[in-house]
Amino acid sequence: MKSGNQRLKIYDTLSRQIQEVAPEDGRRLRFYCCGPTVYGPAHIGNFRTFVLQDVFRRTLELSGQPTQHVRNITNVDDKTIRESQAQGKTLTEFTHYWEDRFHADCDALNILPPHVEPAAVEHIPDQIQLIEKLVEKGHAYRAEDGSVYFKVQSLETYGALSRVKDRELTPQEESGAHKKGSPVSDDEYEAESMADFALWKARKQEDGPNYWDSPWGEGRPGWHIECSAMGMRYLGETFDLHSGGIDLIFPHHENEIAQSEACTCKPFARLWFHIAHLMVDGGKMSKSLGNLYTLDDLKERGFTANELRYTLGQGHYRQPLNFTFDSLKAARQALLRLGKVEAKLKAKLNDAPAPKLKKLTPRKVEDFQSLGDLQPAWDALMNDLNTPDALGKMFSAIKIIERGLGEASVEQIQEWRRGLWVLWSALGIEPVEPEAEPVPEAPEEIKALAQERWEAKQSKDWAKADELRGELQKAGWLVKDRKDGFDLVPV
Ligand SMILES: [Zn+2]
Repeated sequence: MKSGNQRLKIYDTLSRQIQEVAPEDGRRLRFYCCGPTVYGPAHIGNFRTFVLQDVFRRTLELSGQPTQHVRNITNVDDKTIRESQAQGKTLTEFTHYWEDRFHADCDALNILPPHVEPAAVEHIPDQIQLIEKLVEKGHAYRAEDGSVYFKVQSLETYGALSRVKDRELTPQEESGAHKKGSPVSDDEYEAESMADFALWKARKQEDGPNYWDSPWGEGRPGWHIECSAMGMRYLGETFDLHSGGIDLIFPHHENEIAQSEACTCKPFARLWFHIAHLMVDGGKMSKSLGNLYTLDDLKERGFTANELRYTLGQGHYRQPLNFTFDSLKAARQALLRLGKVEAKLKAKLNDAPAPKLKKLTPRKVEDFQSLGDLQPAWDALMNDLNTPDALGKMFSAIKIIERGLGEASVEQIQEWRRGLWVLWSALGIEPVEPEAEPVPEAPEEIKALAQERWEAKQSKDWAKADELRGELQKAGWLVKDRKDGFDLVPV
């Protein structure tokens, strides 16, 4: 679509620059997204990330760029073990339940399933192998208790993604639980200091039956190592792009880079695509505020997944987005507006089915015509995935469509409709067709008049039938004859 030779551009966190998204192998764009930790329902903040990653993939595929998308399932870590124990369930039973729930929410939100969705527990040997290499190369050491830590000081490039070395440590952090240089065994830590982090955690009483054998004794992997192991297994030692929420930059993604690059001496991911936070009512989301909304919470209040998806597209991925219930209501109105336009275009094209698109082969893109009045909206997506700008430009195009619809040629109407559907497919939204308005019932005297006309027609009294038709029209009613009767519709 005129952008056949134009590529999607995004902001790369590592180089701090806008970069073209192109596959190194010239074929498929190989990318990895950190998936959910399956210990409870995902909230709308999590879904902001997954929805934007989906828009990223759909835009790439619609621009003719095939992808290989890997997104993991974290089903062993501090939280999953703690919660499953608390509920007296096996880790498998517990995490499968939440994994299914996550998939159901993704389906409702029209998020395409990744091509590969590996889970951490099924890849313990891969993780052990990686840790063994790191120990061999002197980048990791076994602590007295049998845990293995990554030695941050052993890697000169550590901190390149988050620039953690350039940050001033606040006194609070200095005196906090994680003193600089002391190893950290928590899967997640907030302190912005560099600390040796756990690759393997020695078995503890509270882990219950959740431990595996390793060269360092019984235990389980730390959280960060799973993404290095599964990323490399399914996408190779170096792949094109890695993505996640902005909160994962440090320490999780920094540690993924450290583990992987210390092991292979090759760049891990060429580009890093991060999605900013979702705020609720202008503030942070938190359990204590009770505003960690799930999709079910919104459904209970009468909203749809489609409306949430539209709302999440209303912010640029690099900026925090403020979620409010008013923004959901506005999304409902916007989707209805799209539905109205779609209904008009469809009617003009004799109810032809919608030109829904999923992906285009690169060869097809060259043949693909310009999107006409929708081209500016598409270009906004290609330019740093600017979804709010794309929506704005789409509505500008809709004004043009509504003004020109009366005299437009069939080709023009087809172009408009295709352009709109390309955009809706990229954004993953569905226009909502307004419910057909009920036809009001005619008053009794009008019905009687119409009946009289019908009878005149049956007895071939054409003059009388025509006269009565005129009378009805003056009263505001049109007669539409069927084979065996008639309908009355308001003029
Ligand atoms: Zn990860």
